[in-house]
Amino acid sequence: MKQTVVTLDLEGVLVPEIWIAFAEKTGIKELRRTTRDEPDYDVLMKGRLKILNEHNLNLADIQEVIGTLAPLEGAKAFLDELRRTTQVIILSDTFEQFASPLMRQLNWPTLFCHRLELDAAGRIVNYRLRQKNQKQHSVAALKSLNYRVIAAGDSFNDTTMLAEADVGFFIHAPESIQAQFPQFRPFEKYDDLLAAIKDALSAA
Ligand SMILES: [Mg+2]
Repeated sequence: MKQTVVTLDLEGVLVPEIWIAFAEKTGIKELRRTTRDEPDYDVLMKGRLKILNEHNLNLADIQEVIGTLAPLEGAKAFLDELRRTTQVIILSDTFEQFASPLMRQLNWPTLFCHRLELDAAGRIVNYRLRQKNQKQHSVAALKSLNYRVIAAGDSFNDTTMLAEADVGFFIHAPESIQAQFPQFRPFEKYDDLLAAIKDALSAA
């Protein structure tokens, strides 16, 4: 039987959308846009950094908000059980500086993501994608290591990862995105996703 790795998206899957939480706290409505609204990640991020600079907000302001966030209800129990069952890697388009307070609450799962560039004053001056389309590349790399990959995500920026994986699932995906990608079985509850992953594991 082939060995399996599960790859999971982070925001919307295990934790809230960080930018939406930040928009609510600051009252800056334009920061509510996510990959669900704007599929072009570069357009989305450039817009976010421009807005932050216009409002004179730095990394410390954002980290203060992230420190108040908790994983979604049931997320840690789901992830703990999954990590007892098989290997899990989080593949996220977030940044190391944003993720830490949430990774701590999830007991430090392995995370592949990106990094922000700061100036001496702690202002975010740019973002650095370690690699474009890293979710798909990561799954392809794991397959090259002779792993079978099961992936789950919630949004546009997960669909190439789900397509590259041997098995792809949606969890918490909006109906509009589910409708565009009917090949990925959708779930709302962690228990149902966990059962489907366990089925896929035993079918290997
Ligand atoms: Mg997401």
